[in-house]
Amino acid sequence: MSGYDFDAIVIGSGISGGWAAKELTEQGLKVLLLERGRSITPADYVGEHKPAWEFHFRQLGDRKRYERDYPIQSTCYAFGEPTEQFWIKDSEHPYGQDPARPFRWIRGNHLGGKSLMWGRTTPRWGPINFEENKRDGHGVDWPIRYDDIRPWYDHVEEFIGVSGQTEYDSPFAPVGRFQPGMLMNACETFVADSIRKKFPDRRLTIAPSAVLTRALHGRAPCHYCGPCERGCSTGSYFSSISSTLPAAKATGNLTIVTLDNGQYGETGHQASHTGRGIDLHRIAEASGFAAVELTDLADITRYRRELLRLDGPPRFATIRISTETPVRALPARDGVHLKNRFRAHLGLGVN
Ligand SMILES: Cc1cc2nc3c(=O)[nH]c(=O)nc-3n(C[C@H](O)[C@H](O)[C@H](O)COP(=O)(O)OP(=O)(O)OC[C@H]3O[C@@H](n4cnc5c(N)ncnc54)[C@H](O)[C@@H]3O)c2cc1C
Ligand code: SF4
Repeated sequence: MSGYDFDAIVIGSGISGGWAAKELTEQGLKVLLLERGRSITPADYVGEHKPAWEFHFRQLGDRKRYERDYPIQSTCYAFGEPTEQFWIKDSEHPYGQDPARPFRWIRGNHLGGKSLMWGRTTPRWGPINFEENKRDGHGVDWPIRYDDIRPWYDHVEEFIGVSGQTEYDSPFAPVGRFQPGMLMNACETFVADSIRKKFPDRRLTIAPSAVLTRALHGRAPCHYCGPCERGCSTGSYFSSISSTLPAAKATGNLTIVTLDNGQYGETGHQASHTGRGIDLHRIAEASGFAAVELTDLADITRYRRELLRLDGPPRFATIRISTETPVRALPARDGVHLKNRFRAHLGLGVN
């Protein structure tokens, strides 16, 4: 990497990072894309097209292991034996939650991020959606309206390929630059016809979806195999890997570094308030970080500002608070992963 000079650094390669990389490289900027997880190629879509009987647990998975390692991720409908390689282990990435306001943090730390696991439903927001909170008197009025964002919807839909029906334009779900929509099956057609007869001003329609019905940019139209969340080697659904990253690479301006290869450390600063934090603290000091151990909430708030400063030596904080309930203000903990990256950096064994 030495000798490189980048115009922009994009952190993360999910839907947002992939788009940022494509737009910036196409404008001629030299871009470094940093992804904390491992690299993924279509060869990693190991569950694609694999029948149930070829899975050890017939697709149902090892429930004991899921309870232990994936208690949060496994609550997501798309998690399962054919897809578990795309999800982080909750046992290695715990985070604090307020029991009164529980939060399921679904994560996929790998090249492409959640663009590999997402459901691909892509309706536009319509004019009414940008105004309804103002009309109802809730929150802050949007600083933009539908007409401001319409050209960007066009731009994105045309590039990623969104299929959808165009017969019913509504202020809730405007028709966009869609590829032809998928056909309804017999049951759906029956229900749609019945609704049309009984309620002439209403329609049952198919939601716009980032799945191709026509070939686009070297990607094949969908062959309707079904379980998209396992990955799609024909690139028929939009993901960073099928769409934005290849476009960015084609400019010759993109360098991708996946961090989980033992050579690079995490980006940003991470703190831990697990018991493991103290180990991390010693390793951080040994690596020349300005390391502090914090036990008081007011100090933590103050030090979080310090962590954001770009001048001075690299800083690192371990947080140790004795409380029954995790504190919501604390950052996410990636303790085990970070410790292993530090150890690898120092040439120590990883455990
Ligand atoms: C099962 C499921 C179904 C969904 N269905 C839909 C749907 O139908 N329609 C819809 O609009 N949305 C859907 N979503 C939501 C959608 O997937 C997300 O909103 C979208 O992926 C967010 O994009 P992102 O780029 O912000 O984050 P992500 O796609 O999560 O990408 C973040 C990337 O950044 C990396 N990263 C994080 N921190 C660092 C760091 N410090 N250094 C380097 N890299 C880092 C991560 O590893 C990851 O690769 C769904 C999500 C899930 C899980
Ligand atoms: S997008 Fe189509 S071809 Fe790709 S996995 Fe989904 S159903 Fe199969």
